[in-house]
Amino acid sequence: MKTHPDVTEQIDAVPIDGSKPLIITDADEVLVQFITGLDSYLQEQGLYLDLQSFAITGNVKRQSDHVAVDADVVQENLQAFFEHRTAHLPAVPGAAEALQSLSERAQIIVLSNVPLDQKDARIEGLQRIGVDYPVIANIGLKGAAIRDMTAHMDAPIFFLDDIPHNIDSAAEHADHVHRIHFVADPRLARLIDQADGAHTRIDDWPAVHDYIHQKIDESGH
Ligand SMILES: [Mg+2]
Repeated sequence: MKTHPDVTEQIDAVPIDGSKPLIITDADEVLVQFITGLDSYLQEQGLYLDLQSFAITGNVKRQSDHVAVDADVVQENLQAFFEHRTAHLPAVPGAAEALQSLSERAQIIVLSNVPLDQKDARIEGLQRIGVDYPVIANIGLKGAAIRDMTAHMDAPIFFLDDIPHNIDSAAEHADHVHRIHFVADPRLARLIDQADGAHTRIDDWPAVHDYIHQKIDESGH
């Protein structure tokens, strides 16, 4: 699997110390509350999110008649949501504090599938909640990007994401990376089991904080 050139360019621009632990974290539903933000945006459009499965499409309904809207309407609303709300999403509780503590011994990079033209808004939104680390706007599954970022590493690497396909992609292409399946939103969390490719499933930051510190302790770094 090849990494998209737009992603490679961003990876090359972020210096990574091969001898220092690295935490690669997703943003939506790990650092920021995507579902809560999306639902509140949809409510303003006369729609709402009725999460019956681990998907957006099919679960967006009209307030007037409770009928699910078509995939193209969902896409339009998602695009508008990303455009208007990426810089203003609520924080996942404890994320900033945990990363602040972990940053004393680990490098931190945010690997988000935010559209490239909204990368600046993502950075702004993360800074607003106290998460100020390099951001890479990925395209597609994340395994190849993680492989490329970590090929030269000789220290523990951790990856957090809510989407099982991304965890499994990391397992396939970057098996040396410790994979934490993290789903912040409780509505979403109950719909999804631990990804096959994950080492563990943890849905809250204080627990992730303790877990990663312990793993780094064990590694001797
Ligand atoms: Mg996510």
